[in-house]
Amino acid sequence: MSIINLKDKNLYYIGGVVRDELLDRKSFDIDITYVGNAIEFAKTIPDAEIIQINEPFGTVRIKLAGQEIDIASTRCETYPQKGHLPVVGDIGCSLKEDILRRDFTINALAKSTLTGEIIDYTGGIDDIKTKTLKVLHDNSFIDDPTRIVRGLKFSVRFGFEFDEHTKKLQDNYLSNINYDMSYKRLKKELVETFNLNSWTAFEKFVNEGIYKLIAPCNFTLPEVNIENLITKYKPEILWIIYVGLLPDISNLPLTKQEKKIVDDFHSLIGKSTNSDFEIYKNFEGVNLESIIMFATVNPEIVKHYLDNLRNIKIEITGKDLQEIGIPPSSKYSEIFDYVLKEKLKNPALTKAQEIEIAKKYL
Ligand code: ATP
Repeated sequence: MSIINLKDKNLYYIGGVVRDELLDRKSFDIDITYVGNAIEFAKTIPDAEIIQINEPFGTVRIKLAGQEIDIASTRCETYPQKGHLPVVGDIGCSLKEDILRRDFTINALAKSTLTGEIIDYTGGIDDIKTKTLKVLHDNSFIDDPTRIVRGLKFSVRFGFEFDEHTKKLQDNYLSNINYDMSYKRLKKELVETFNLNSWTAFEKFVNEGIYKLIAPCNFTLPEVNIENLITKYKPEILWIIYVGLLPDISNLPLTKQEKKIVDDFHSLIGKSTNSDFEIYKNFEGVNLESIIMFATVNPEIVKHYLDNLRNIKIEITGKDLQEIGIPPSSKYSEIFDYVLKEKLKNPALTKAQEIEIAKKYL
């Protein structure tokens, strides 16, 4: 664990950072909690510069010896509106209360910055040893259904499984979903989960009915596993390739680009693919993500396009056509298509040969 330059009997590393240290994994976020009011505490640290304060949440960012450190106050949370952001209750509550608002026992650990002692009220250390994901109470998924997707994320990332009771709570929730939830938070967890590019995760997501959190629809797992295609062709936005296969994701707040990827995928379905020219034209200018999604419908054609056709480009331009005496007109695109058809048959054609083909067309 990267250590902060600050020790205090009331200051604890908390959550994922403690879990990651026990798993011997690098942590990207270092969460630190002060038992009491972190803002007041920050003001008493000699040589610390206070950079930012968030009064309602009781959090503070300081700079100390060149290091920026975020410190949260211990706080309780309640979920008056199930499935939405919790409401912050008592700031400066006990460490135990702060821990008990968390999602899984493996994330409910704290480590003293002063002594290094690990505080484990919920059996998280044992659950890490047995690779088990357990919620802290029976209403956990009702309060916050995004925890179901977080569970999926941790199961992929660490190879952990829900214990029987937690799985039952998941099944119960999924058979009675409250769709009035924060889809922004759900999306964040879906992004983090499916950016891991795991077909196994997608299998679980579909077969266990977790996908129904997005919308009440029916979906069965596609027969074609696209994980290797994603690894091989390295598209930019991974998560949408998986989640975008569902029939209805309109509840999720998508970016323009993500929306286009899904729309392009849908418009590929049903297009005729009888020749290399048709395949080329269908995929030309379409996002790589949409093309890989289409592999769930027709993997052979996608592989053929990506391996053999995608990089074929005609060299002839409108300027060349003008130089051989053809005035600009709508005929140009017919000529280019004609040349392209020939080039797809023989990718080694030179530009001079392309010009000859254009003349022949005329
Ligand atoms: P990651 O490595 O993906 O960042 P993390 O466990 O550190 O995983 P964060 O999202 O950074 O996850 O959250 C930090 C801590 O806050 C978690 O370890 C957990 O204790 C708590 N937490 C996060 N999300 C929830 C949630 N939806 N419900 C309850 N506790 C949560």
